[in-house]
Amino acid sequence: MKTTVLLNKLEQAELRPREYYNEYSRLISEDVRKLLFPGREMWTERRCPGCTNADVKLSFERNGFQFYLCDGCFTLYVSPVPDQAALSKFRAEGQAERYLDTLFRNELSSKRYIHIIASIIAWVMTYTDRFDLTGGSCCVWSSHGARIAEIMKRKNACSDIVVVNGNEIMHREDNPVNTVESIRDISKPKDVMALFDLLERMVDPRTALFDALGKVNNGGMVFITCATYGFEYQVLKEHSPNLIPVDRLTLFSADALKRILRESGFEVLELSTPGRLDVEVVVDTVKKRGLELESSFLENLLIRKDENCLSKFQLFLQEFCMSSYLRVAARKA
Ligand SMILES: [Zn+2]
Repeated sequence: MKTTVLLNKLEQAELRPREYYNEYSRLISEDVRKLLFPGREMWTERRCPGCTNADVKLSFERNGFQFYLCDGCFTLYVSPVPDQAALSKFRAEGQAERYLDTLFRNELSSKRYIHIIASIIAWVMTYTDRFDLTGGSCCVWSSHGARIAEIMKRKNACSDIVVVNGNEIMHREDNPVNTVESIRDISKPKDVMALFDLLERMVDPRTALFDALGKVNNGGMVFITCATYGFEYQVLKEHSPNLIPVDRLTLFSADALKRILRESGFEVLELSTPGRLDVEVVVDTVKKRGLELESSFLENLLIRKDENCLSKFQLFLQEFCMSSYLRVAARKA
């Protein structure tokens, strides 16, 4: 199995401009208070989405959401959770999602954003070329699926693309791709299944993943990108700036994902955590909020060491799959 390390430095500001992200975070907290919390007594407890373990300890709370860490598979997840219909309504009616949509269509639809999507598609195409799947059928399931599908079409990555309804599509009148409401509406298995930045936002990502993996042809491939329970979340816990509860309902561990893929008959060809921001985010947050770290070793490393040491530490996190952003390429036998 391959592990990729990305060497060029990525600035936090480049990926998530702070003023936009802060505003998004503020709006989503307001939306949660107005739209989700009133139905809270209907929320359901869940087992670990990584391994179905029910014997799990509360790790911490954030903004009224309880986060559990599974000892069995090291997945972090929220419980109880609203049902998917309530969450979809929340995203459709909330101001945060509209803000994000406008942002993507205006400021962030710039070359920079396109570059990030294009580099993911280039990664997918290294495998589809290798296994003769380029130009085949494809399903994209992602909160920004329509934009990904448009670029895939342009690059002739696939001939027949269907997008599972992402929230953004509701706001777009000029949607040029085929869409279905649910992954279960896909009748014929696909050569390529792309699940990008999706699993962490779902109420039942385990079932969603098994459903999606069942819609892949033998010899076809699945590509997954998602937030994972890596260094940033492990060190900062409830203080992590990226741990916005409704966007991070489940942080699968790499091991949990590997197990689910193997159970579904897939060979994992690559599993990497190419996240490049963990150390920068942790150092920034610790300094700004004056947090005390539990480990004096970590404190010494993160606060007193120079940039050279810190960037090598980030590479170490990537190399040993401990960063907080994960990507997987797997092929169905
Ligand atoms: Zn588990």
